[in-house]
Amino acid sequence: MTIPKQQIGKRAQTLNTFQRRNVLLAILVVGFCLVIWQTAQLSYDFFLHQTQAQSRQSLNLYAQNLRRSLERYEFLPSLYANHASVAGLLAHPESPEFLAQSNALLERSNRLTGSSNSYLLDTKGITLAASNWDQTSNFIGRNFSSEPYFKAAMQGRLGRYYAIGSGSDERGYYFASPVRRDGIIRGVVVAIVGVEAIEDSWWTTGRNELFVTDDNGIIFISSRPGWRYRRVPATKSSDAGQQINEAAAVAVQSARYNQAAITPFNLVYGRNLKTGGRVVQIAPFDDTEADFDAPEPDSGAQMVQVGPTTDSLPNYRGSRTENYLLQNLQMRELGWTLYFLADISTIPRQTATVTILVGVVLIALALGSGFWIQRRRNLTQRAELQQQSRVALEAAYGELETRVHDRTRDLVESNRMLQDQIQERRRAEQELRQTQDELVQAEKLAALGHISAGISHELNQPLTAIRSFSDNARKLLDRERFEDVHSNLGLISELTGRMAQLMKQLRTFARNAPAQKSVISLQSVLDRTIEVLQSRIDEMSVKLEIGNNTDVQVFADELRLEQVLGNILGNALDAVTSCENPLITIQVEAVGQDVTLIVRDSGPGIPAHHINEIFDPFFTTKDVGQGLGLGLSITYGIVKDFGGSIRASNHVDGGAVFTLSLPRFDEQLQQERKAV
Ligand code: ADP
Repeated sequence: MTIPKQQIGKRAQTLNTFQRRNVLLAILVVGFCLVIWQTAQLSYDFFLHQTQAQSRQSLNLYAQNLRRSLERYEFLPSLYANHASVAGLLAHPESPEFLAQSNALLERSNRLTGSSNSYLLDTKGITLAASNWDQTSNFIGRNFSSEPYFKAAMQGRLGRYYAIGSGSDERGYYFASPVRRDGIIRGVVVAIVGVEAIEDSWWTTGRNELFVTDDNGIIFISSRPGWRYRRVPATKSSDAGQQINEAAAVAVQSARYNQAAITPFNLVYGRNLKTGGRVVQIAPFDDTEADFDAPEPDSGAQMVQVGPTTDSLPNYRGSRTENYLLQNLQMRELGWTLYFLADISTIPRQTATVTILVGVVLIALALGSGFWIQRRRNLTQRAELQQQSRVALEAAYGELETRVHDRTRDLVESNRMLQDQIQERRRAEQELRQTQDELVQAEKLAALGHISAGISHELNQPLTAIRSFSDNARKLLDRERFEDVHSNLGLISELTGRMAQLMKQLRTFARNAPAQKSVISLQSVLDRTIEVLQSRIDEMSVKLEIGNNTDVQVFADELRLEQVLGNILGNALDAVTSCENPLITIQVEAVGQDVTLIVRDSGPGIPAHHINEIFDPFFTTKDVGQGLGLGLSITYGIVKDFGGSIRASNHVDGGAVFTLSLPRFDEQLQQERKAV
């Protein structure tokens, strides 16, 4: 089987369209994924950089705050140093007055400035006076010569040092200042500032964290107590101040942090931001950090988990890996590094929100574009279809017009032919009528001859009889036989009556005036007709049977109908003359819009060969003087004139039957007719 080229082309085209659509769809999906991925990246970076900028500001603020908190105490030792009682005590260590004055000074100023302790050392590092002189564990007499701050002060510098007080277990920052007299250092005044208060103020940082490391990278001030005394791991690119000197750290830890265990800080460095800061991960500590960091009642924020999680502790900080953005600031004058950890746990959620939004917008755009493209395609297709159907319509219209033109031409032609035919028929009709008229004329002439013969025959006989009766009457008058004259005159009168009757018939036949139709009762017409014929009926002892329902109304001319009925019944009486039991039956039937009157007699009936002639004028089987043969002919004309009909037949049981049909008049029928 061979596939037509056109079909192959079509299939290939469909395949191409299908493939092209698939490729386009794949490109769209890949593009969508790329855009979503890029959006996620960009928005994550955006939020990260925003956090970075905000946390950098916070970091600077905290640093300023820290600096200001400590600066307040910086000049405190030098103030003490210039005091007379301090100088006096250093000059006279045994003087109880100077001792009391110095103790009171240190205690008072300590109270006023909020420092935790202040004390005066001699050049050997022995405490001469202290703000806590009245406490049992006071510093007086204690030797602090090994302390770095003492050594620094003895070298003429301002000694600064962070440590846990060996006597009080208190974390503090030590300021030491030399007391000079005549340019020679006579002693050292020390002021300790507690850092608990600073830490307390940091609790307000919410989900962000803050800590300070010393020059060995060991955390000693922290918003998270559990992070204290942990060593921050060094980064490859870390600043010099962050370099961990393992040996030094080990060396100082026992002395400085009062034998506190220095543990590692589970901090893993992540990516570096160009604008500063670094993403870090802090894994949970397997030691006591969680205990330090009990769930915070204030913190309603839910942490987003990054890394290993403990689902059962959703708000439990320190029990899971946390992600932060780390930024630090070196405070060289203090020898510290301040770290700010900005919480970035919400960034994935924000990123997801933005990405979903973009995705939704993109999908909406894609759907909208798809819808728009589809709509445009539909519109184009519709326009094409419309164009096609318009062209088809125009073609069909043209075709139709041609056909109509052709058909009309035929029609016009046939119309013309029809008109010709009508003309022809009219002419033929006219000719026919003319011929008929001529024929009628000829017939009339023939009939006239016939009539003349008949009439002359009919009139001759009575005329001859009248003459002879008149001659006789004269003779009888002469003989004065008045009785016989009277009788003769009676016979003459009778004969003239017959002649008048004959003339009347002829007149009726000749007259062709239109009938004066009206609504008349058939019963009354029938009654009058019978009344006229009654003497004959009685004379002949004819039995007349009339049906019941003769009480109907017909639309006819009363006198003429009487004439019709008189003719039919007269003929019937003539027919039954020689019958043994003469019988005439009259039946009336009103069926539908017609009234049918049936007259049957018991006579010999109409001979079959005459049955078609009896309505012809001058057809008669009667003897001369008995009939002119005009009765039925006149009857036929009158009935036709009424809009009815008459027909003659023979009954199977013998006798002639005349069926006369007349238009019935019925009011209801009439109204119905009008309504139609
Ligand atoms: P006429 O009575 O003068 O002969 P009609 O026209 O009345 O003329 O009748 C024509 C003929 O029809 C009659 O001569 C007769 O032969 C025939 N005819 C009419 N009525 C009857 C009838 N009831 N029975 C038999 N023949 C009839």
